[in-house]
Amino acid sequence: MTNFTTPLLPSMADIWQQTLNWQPTTQQQKQFQQLYELILEGNRQLNLTRIIDPEEFWEKHLWDSLRGIAPLLSGEIDFPVSSASPAFIDIGTGAGFPGIPVGCAIANCKITLLDSTRKKITFIEQILSELALSNVKTLVGRAEEIGQQPQHRERYDLALIRAVGTGSACAEYTLPLLKKKGLAVIYRGNWTQDETTALENAVEQLGGVVELIEKFTTPLSNSIRHCLYLRKVSNTPAKFPRAVGVPTQKPL
Ligand code: SAM
Repeated sequence: MTNFTTPLLPSMADIWQQTLNWQPTTQQQKQFQQLYELILEGNRQLNLTRIIDPEEFWEKHLWDSLRGIAPLLSGEIDFPVSSASPAFIDIGTGAGFPGIPVGCAIANCKITLLDSTRKKITFIEQILSELALSNVKTLVGRAEEIGQQPQHRERYDLALIRAVGTGSACAEYTLPLLKKKGLAVIYRGNWTQDETTALENAVEQLGGVVELIEKFTTPLSNSIRHCLYLRKVSNTPAKFPRAVGVPTQKPL
């Protein structure tokens, strides 16, 4: 197995720059390295991720997490934030993706990592303390319930969601949590025009619009990915999100 620290991480500097017009600082590189090692260690007890090869980890967990927010960082899409410390949420974060890399990269955001599995969140809490990431916090719960709680509903500027469900379920989990003008980023692998048509219908019912769909290839394995950007344009009707399980069982 390649050693992740040298020469792999330094050699990625050019790829970060060429693909995202961004480079991690030395401190961020250290955090990424530590994150990788802690996840490998955690994998011995918990089934956190199958991606353990260093290059694959870099591409699928680190690079992919930050690729989703690239159009915001570059200004390609409008991202009006309501304060100097915008509120982000990562729904179904699992082992902390995309939320932990985003929390490392954007120090001024406050990001909440939500997952329904307590043991994953307990593990993430250990990681956050090791990485000294004070802008990242955790929450145990189901998106369907959290989206109905006044302390979370319509409180976030940005909602991220990767590998949690169908497009319409992801829309139903994210849009109720967003403030008006807020943005949801849905990370996908393959995506088709038919899926866009179905998603547009769901998103409209939830008070949003599909603002942008980006197709791209990953820099090492040349895999196809899509990111869907949904804008919240009006309040989400109170009946959404529906009860636990309904967004997947009866998709909008
Ligand atoms: N986002 C991570 C990633 O891309 O590596 C993890 C994806 S994992 C396949 C899906 C995660 O979503 C699991 O950790 C699961 O517990 C969580 N999850 C599924 N449905 C959820 C819901 N309705 N509310 C909160 N978390 C949920």
